[in-house]
Amino acid sequence: MAAVQRPGVEDMAQQEPAADRIGRMEFLLRLRRQGIGDQGVLRAMDEVPREHFVPNEFIEEAYSDQALPIACGQTISQPFVVAYMTEQLRVRPSDRVLEIGTGSGYQAAILGRIAREVVTIERYRTLAEAARTRLSVLGIHNVEVRVGDGTLGVPERVVYDRILVTAAVDLVPSALIEQLAVDGILLLPLGPIEGIQMLTRIIRTPDGLREEALIPVRFVPLRPGQAQEL
Ligand code: SAH
Repeated sequence: MAAVQRPGVEDMAQQEPAADRIGRMEFLLRLRRQGIGDQGVLRAMDEVPREHFVPNEFIEEAYSDQALPIACGQTISQPFVVAYMTEQLRVRPSDRVLEIGTGSGYQAAILGRIAREVVTIERYRTLAEAARTRLSVLGIHNVEVRVGDGTLGVPERVVYDRILVTAAVDLVPSALIEQLAVDGILLLPLGPIEGIQMLTRIIRTPDGLREEALIPVRFVPLRPGQAQEL
């Protein structure tokens, strides 16, 4: 009896339509041109298929450099911003990372390819469940998706090496500072929630907090409480 032939990774790459392959190559070249130099970040951006995280009607736009609408009136961030935030968060393979604002789960997937483990919190159950399914289909098992109010961090109050907030805040949530390890880094869009925010890096040094402004960004607002409706 003939053995069933399963395609290897190379065969699968050959089966990928040439246009898609070129699209993905351009995607990586563009990130490099935009200044992303960290090999681990570029590898993660190459490995995680963004088309799995965007709604069907936007599949064609999956590798263009723009934020796209997702369910519950939220957005999946622009690829450059995802890569830039991951790079500026200086994620190491041993890190335990907390993300606030799961959305589609794309940023969490990228973090999961680099860090030891990721906990991500989303206030909409609908989004959290969809993200959980996507991550499991893609075989990303070190990312835990929770439903809740990320403003409060995680109830267990363990500390995280890296914390990333992917929704805009006008004040740094104090629970997140409390849950940041010494030498840990917190990255968040800080500023008016209906306008342009400044992506801000806060480092907890043994002597206190050090704050640095990075680039202007525009995120949907961090809203208090778990969403009741969806
Ligand atoms: N990181 C996401 C994009 C984030 S959009 C991605 O890669 O697709 C911001 C997300 O933060 C939205 O899904 C929004 O519902 C969520 N959010 C807003 N306030 C929140 C809160 N208090 N706790 C948890 N999630 C929140």
